[in-house]
Amino acid sequence: MSSSGLRVVWVYPDLLSTYGDQGNVLVVERRARQRGLTVERVDVRSDQPIPTSGDIYLVGGGEDRPQRLAAERLRRDGGLHRAVDNGAIIFSVCAGYQILGHEFVNDLGQREPGLGLLDVVSVRGTGERCVGDVLADIDEALRLPQLTGFENHQGITQLGPGVRPLARVRLGNGNGTGDGTEGAWAGTVFGTYMHGPVLARNPQIADLLLKLTLDVNALPPVDDRWYEALRTERIAAATQAAA
Ligand code: GLN
Repeated sequence: MSSSGLRVVWVYPDLLSTYGDQGNVLVVERRARQRGLTVERVDVRSDQPIPTSGDIYLVGGGEDRPQRLAAERLRRDGGLHRAVDNGAIIFSVCAGYQILGHEFVNDLGQREPGLGLLDVVSVRGTGERCVGDVLADIDEALRLPQLTGFENHQGITQLGPGVRPLARVRLGNGNGTGDGTEGAWAGTVFGTYMHGPVLARNPQIADLLLKLTLDVNALPPVDDRWYEALRTERIAAATQAAA
């Protein structure tokens, strides 16, 4: 992190920001400020270069056509690779997650190359679209409470040996391959199918991103009552809907 503070980069808000994913940026910003950090938020539209000196990059979900356009531009730009080489953290959701993988199927039904930052491949699921609440247990290596989110995707994602599943679903589809995995992560690059926005429902992940950036094991506690109320409500709603 530079002496001017934490740089949070929101990648392509004009193409990748469905289902409230903008909220992820707001949550990271707020929780960093609550810990006394100076935060610079950089919103990078798809006609602008990706800065390579950011600390945390957030990549949201998107519909199929904007997803293809975003993948084309991100490949051409190359900035996310340089950012990861510089030690940055990338947290991606749904379409963003698929783009970070090796390839996905685009709106034209063609295999579209991704960025290869995560060892995953996405194809178009032949079953029903995966829509609904998700409850998942996060990878034990990350030692965080249960996750809650909302998924809405047709693509399904196969994990390669270079990643670990971010979580295992108790409810919902997650990666959609039937093996119970949800999302993927490797080093400082994370992907999930969970909207919600996922960092508002799971502030423990926002704090994980901050701890990784600051290279600390713990952060000063903040007032989490609002988040806890949201989590309790969503976990109850998901459990009831599944009953
Ligand atoms: N278009 C992708 C799919 O349906 C991603 C959707 C999303 O980001 N919600 O799989």
